[in-house]
This record gives sequence, C-alpha cells and structure tokens, in this order.
Amino acid sequence: MKQLIILAGGKGSRLKERLGKLPKPLIDICGKPLLEHQILLAKAHGFKDLIITVCHEAEAIREFCGDGSRWSVNIRYLEEKQPLGTAGAILVNLATFADTFMVMYGDTLLNVDLSRFWDFHLRNKAEASLFLHPNDHPHDSDLVEIDSNGRIVAFHPYPHAADRYFPNLVNAALYLVQKSSLEKSLAEHDFSKAIDFVKDLFPQMLKQNRFLLGYPSTEYIKDAGTPKRVDQVCADFLSGKIQRRALTTPNTALFIDRDGTLTQETDYVTTPDQLQLIPGSADGIKRINQSGHLAILVTNQPVIARGSCSEDQLKQIHNKLETLLGQEGAFLDAIYYCPHHPDKGFAGERIEYKIRCDCRKPGLGMLKQAQQLATIDLKNSWLIGDSSVDMQTAKNAGLKSVLVRTGFSGCDDKYAARPDFECYNLTEAVTFILDKFPALFKQAQTQTAQIQAGDRIVIGGLARSGKSTWATLMKLALAERQIDATIISLDGWIKDIDQRGDGKLMSRHDTEALKEVIQKLAAGTEIQIPSYNRLQRKRNKLLEQMPIKPEQVIIFEGVIAFLIEDFLTLKAHHFYIKSSDTLRIDNFHKEYSLRGLSEKEIHSLYQSREEDENQLIKASPMVQNAIWIEETE
Ligand SMILES: [Zn+2]
Repeated sequence: MKQLIILAGGKGSRLKERLGKLPKPLIDICGKPLLEHQILLAKAHGFKDLIITVCHEAEAIREFCGDGSRWSVNIRYLEEKQPLGTAGAILVNLATFADTFMVMYGDTLLNVDLSRFWDFHLRNKAEASLFLHPNDHPHDSDLVEIDSNGRIVAFHPYPHAADRYFPNLVNAALYLVQKSSLEKSLAEHDFSKAIDFVKDLFPQMLKQNRFLLGYPSTEYIKDAGTPKRVDQVCADFLSGKIQRRALTTPNTALFIDRDGTLTQETDYVTTPDQLQLIPGSADGIKRINQSGHLAILVTNQPVIARGSCSEDQLKQIHNKLETLLGQEGAFLDAIYYCPHHPDKGFAGERIEYKIRCDCRKPGLGMLKQAQQLATIDLKNSWLIGDSSVDMQTAKNAGLKSVLVRTGFSGCDDKYAARPDFECYNLTEAVTFILDKFPALFKQAQTQTAQIQAGDRIVIGGLARSGKSTWATLMKLALAERQIDATIISLDGWIKDIDQRGDGKLMSRHDTEALKEVIQKLAAGTEIQIPSYNRLQRKRNKLLEQMPIKPEQVIIFEGVIAFLIEDFLTLKAHHFYIKSSDTLRIDNFHKEYSLRGLSEKEIHSLYQSREEDENQLIKASPMVQNAIWIEETE
C-alpha cells in the first residue's frame, strides 16, 4: 500500500493574521483547506495509508481529518511534543513506516502526478528521490545539483558562494524515501536538536555517498507559507494555471534557441565568460514564465564534438545562463542541447560525438526529450530562433515559428524554410505570441471565411506594412479548416544588389522570372521558390521546392503584388494591408539600421521609396478594389 507522510506540525507564525485560530495546514485555498487538497490528490494516486505529523493546534487537525474515512483513506497521527525538525519527526518513528514512503510538507499546494514520481523512484532503486524545479529567485534558494543521469551530486544552500555559477534547480519539499536507507545511519543522529531534511539529513546522506536522485518536473508545486504566497496560490488556482501544468493537460511551450536569440551570437561560446544575454531577453523569458507556458531552451552545441568544450564546461556555461536569468526573475523550465556534429576529420575533435544524431536541429530529438518532461501540444507551441535551422526545425515539428532579427537574423542560408513570423528580438516575439497573435488569428479567420480550396490570394501593401505576417495568419486560419495553403513571397525575386539598374521598384525585381512561375503554377507544374538574403542583399542559393496540388490555396505577398499585370488579372482574393504610417516608418528604420545603414541613409532611402514605390502602389487600381485589412498600433 502506498504510504504518505504529511508534515503538518508547523506553527504558521507568518500566516497568523489569516489563520486566526486555525492551524497552518487548514488555511483556506479557494474554498477548501490546503490539507484537504493534499489528501484528495494523494487519494487520486492510490495512497490509502496517510500519516500526519502534528504539533501546534494538533486537536484542530485531528478533528478536521478524523480517521480519514470520509475520504476513504486511513489517517493516523504522530504527535511531536516539541518540534523535532522535518526529518527528526520521521526518524524517531521510522520503525512504524512502510519500506517506501512519500513525504509532503503541510504548507505546499501541488498538482503533481504522484504515481509517476513513485514509479520513477522505484524503477531507479534510489535511496531517496527529490522533486526538483526551477524558480524565479534561485539566488536566495537552496539549490540542488544533479549529474547527467539525474543523480544528486551537491547541495548548495543559500547563501551561495559568489565565485561560481549554480544551476537553477530547487528542492520543492516533496520526497520519496526508503526506510532501510534511513535505518543505516539512525544511530548517528542527535535527536536533542531539530533535524531538517534539507539542512541536515540529505547533505549527510550525500556525504555517505548514498544514491539520491533528482526528479526535475514542470508540474505545479508552491508553498503557501506567507499571506503573499497564499494569494498567489489562490490566483493560480482560479486562473487554471495549476491544472494547466498537470502532465495530463497539454501544455503550450515556447522553445527558445540560445546563441543569437537569447544570448549574444559570438563565434563559439566555450567558457562562461563568453556568454552574455542579449539585453532585454530576460524580460521575454519572464513574460513566458508569468503566462504559465513553458520556456524550453533547445540549442545545437557542436563545440563539444569539436573538442573545444566539454559537457562539464557546457554545464558551467548554462549555470551562468540560469544565474543571469534568475537575477532578473526569469527561468527556463528545461535546457536541452545537442553535443554532436556529423562531419568527421578535424584536428582535436572528439570522435564519439561525431555522429549523425536525431537531436541536432533541424532534427526533433530535443523536442522529443521535452515531451518526456511535460505533455506538450506541438501544434499550439512555438519555436523562436535566429537561423534558418530553427525555422526548418519548427517546420519539421509542426510548430509555429518566429524568426528574430538578432544573431544570424535568418540569413545563414542553410535551409529554405520560411519563418511564420518575424520580430526584431526575443521579447518582441514573446509579446507577439502572447498578446497580439490570438486576436490577429481571429481576425484572419473572419477574413478567410469565404476562401475555398484551390483559391488564390494576393496580398499587397507598402513596404513594412505587415504583408508577410498576414500571409501566415491566413495560412494558419485556413489550416484550421483543413485547407492547405502555400505562401509565395515575391521578395524572392528581388535581384542581387549589383543587378538592379536604376534601383527603382520594378527594376529591383526579376519580373520576367516571376511571370514564368505564375504560368507554371497555372499549368500545375512543380515550382522552385527563391528567397532573399536581406543582410547580404542578394538571393540565397537555396530554392524551396514546391509541388503544387490543385486543391492548394496559394498566397502571394509582396510590394509588387499590386503592380504586375498577371496578379491584377488573376482570379484571386486581393487584400491590401494598411498599417499606420508611424508603425511602418518605425519598422522601416529598424529594418535598415539592422542592415547597417546610417540614419541619414535610411532617411534618404525612405524618401526615394516614398516617391517611387509608395506612389506607384497607392496608384494601383487594385488598392481601391481590394479588401482592406487595417493594422493599428
Ligand atoms: Zn545530437
């Protein structure tokens, strides 16, 4: 029979005002005492044998819980005459416990799959297993360090040494323990002092080289030991956050690339010193944390295969990353990396890592690892990255993607996958996903309600008005109706910088080649879609192969869409994207300063575009005939 010990002897001095005469474990959490939430969870996971240790206000707890029969569980009590400490209370009564038992603190609200944790502990034959999770204040928390097999190798109690970085893994006060293991050292304990699990017992077991295992999880567990925390727990309960974090509920994850997205892109980061956050990116992660979605890092680290960094050094680098994020109140729910590289034959390389693996992006191995940690609904999840590798990964996995314009800015030319959306940096990407996307998506569903399989869509508008964003929104809205759509960005036909003649809009595009493609499309032949490398201002070498099926919707988008005869006469749904001038000009400035132009150059470029393309587009008869989509600030 599964046994659970609930440590309910705490005094609850910090909650005095809220409690009145009640003992701490009976604090009300949304209509039910905290202790009852715990008992019901335990019962749901087959725990029938419950032991509650009591000290302060013991009678009130006994009175409330009785023998447990009203929940169909057995409850017995262990009364502490004086506080013995969390572990002391267990050790003095050890002989009366089962071989394996779970320990829960009476002031935590949790929604943890206790059965899964139990099975994990037994399967691994650990002497004790500790439930671990990252939090948003690791700098003043007691931290736990595990090795790559999950074995606990160190405890780092607060305050931490200033000269090194620590992983963000916090002991959440939920344990599984083997009685036999504790019996071995029973004689060594001094029961005249309180004995604590975290400060005394576990560190002592570690010193004796006992097998302590960490169980990292993204499930909800929070202590409700202060009025502020009680309020937080209640808010989480009411908002559904506690339920959403359950392993039975699909979670939305925002997968984040590391170099060039979250941290500065430098050639290769091989020491903690070289790792720096991109300014502002911690805010983005913090926003994800607060939203209740998962923030999961997925990074290719071929530096290990190359031999320029060991897995241990990489761990130090990631400890620094977690420390920097923690200082700003942000955390990653998990970090996955691929240490491999497929190409052999370099000096100093580590041959054991030179393999074709499943985890190197655009492979899906790291996403699969994440799915073992939490239940992730990939269709509603996102990948934010700075490279075409990230975009291809998202495409392969069926994730929505956001390309950030930091790092490689999408100009690495390794894969032809088109990003779903583009933002200037990580925080902007997170804001887009959490705040803007849901409403825009609804708008796109309305706008595409009349569109049928096989239809054509032409999206026009001035530069930087949001045409490609709308192309994706429509594609996604159609996908909800099981209609497959393909986006063709006309930017792909922008000529290389040295072949643009007078530099005016129509000479900048290879319109002849574009017309050929339109004809091929009409004939139903496979086409090849070029793409444009904005930073190098020339075409990418890679072409995206596009087999066209008759039922497919094709969405064309680009500044020249309303200027080429073939698109005007094409039987299609024409949309004109009208965004506010301030927003558009602001984006124009951001775009061209990224491409290295000075303020003066940007200004004069904008003027010439205003005279050339903006006037041309505004004069197109299609502008008046199209359906307008107005984007406001
Ligand atoms: Zn790999």
